[in-house]
Amino acid sequence: MLYGMLELSIRCPKCDGPVPLNGPWEVAHCDRCQADVVIPHDYWTDILTDIATALKTELQEGEGTNATIFGNFHTTLLYGRLKPYCPGCKEDFEPRADAADEYAHACPSCGYETLVAPAPAWLREEYPAARVVVNATPQGKVEGEAAAASGPVVFSCLKCGGALEVDGTERLVPCSFCGVKVYLPDDLWLRLHPAKTKARWFVGFDEGEIKAEGD
Ligand SMILES: [Zn+2]
Ligand SMILES: [Zn+2]
Ligand SMILES: [Zn+2]
Repeated sequence: MLYGMLELSIRCPKCDGPVPLNGPWEVAHCDRCQADVVIPHDYWTDILTDIATALKTELQEGEGTNATIFGNFHTTLLYGRLKPYCPGCKEDFEPRADAADEYAHACPSCGYETLVAPAPAWLREEYPAARVVVNATPQGKVEGEAAAASGPVVFSCLKCGGALEVDGTERLVPCSFCGVKVYLPDDLWLRLHPAKTKARWFVGFDEGEIKAEGD
């Protein structure tokens, strides 16, 4: 199994804001303008084919490179030939590449759990060399976790000054004192829903399935 590390983001087609892609997502969410951006399968198969080819033909173990890809999305990409490592303590580990279901790899040194998942079915169908995905954020889980982690905060009603308890689930919060509906300002909303940042994830490729470009 040949492992590639990826760290990438695209520019939101609606607002030009950076949108990290922390996994082989089919839909990404822009935290700046709240647009849902559909990421076509072709986008992933093109990028992963290029990366796998570079891993096999150009890069030595431990080497990486940057790329900016214009075209459908303006993509900023960092990738390298690196084995998966624990995000907690940076220790390498060997995932079970043939696992039929996703599982959490518990680091023997620090206990940090890293998600290991088979490549999504659509990806295996379109690019069979891609086998396993490590430390990708599952699509759609990001926002709920961020809101839950920050806990409730108190905000004063803009009309009567009464204390509103805000938990981040609704942006329009009714005041229990005067009944006005308060629309939470951007800075508070962003504190409750921190913008996603880029995270490193890994794809394991079956070396025998990687074809050189033009084959
Ligand atoms: Zn946007
Ligand atoms: Zn660790
Ligand atoms: Zn009020």
